[in-house]
Amino acid sequence: MKVRIDKSGCVGNARCAAVADALFPLDDDGYIAIEAFDVPAGQEKAAKNGARSCPERIIFVEEDDGTISWPPTKRA
Ligand code: SF4
Repeated sequence: MKVRIDKSGCVGNARCAAVADALFPLDDDGYIAIEAFDVPAGQEKAAKNGARSCPERIIFVEEDDGTISWPPTKRA
C-alpha cells in the first residue's frame, strides 16, 4: 500500500498527524512535509485513518493492485 499527498492542497490543520504522527510528519509551519510514502507493514489501518481524517481529501491511499481506495470517487 502507498500513500500519496497533494501537498499543494494542504491547509495545515494537522488532523493527519493527530491520527498518525509517525506516518504524516508536518513541517515547521504545520503543513504536511511529505508527498508520498510506502506504508510499513502493520500500519495500513493507521495510514487509512490518517487519510480519512484530512478534510481536504488530499491524502490518497493506493492499494497494492493500484486501485485508489481513498478518497472515494465522486458520483455524478
Ligand atoms: S489533514 Fe490534510 S490538510 Fe490537514 S495537515 Fe494533514 S494533509 Fe494537510
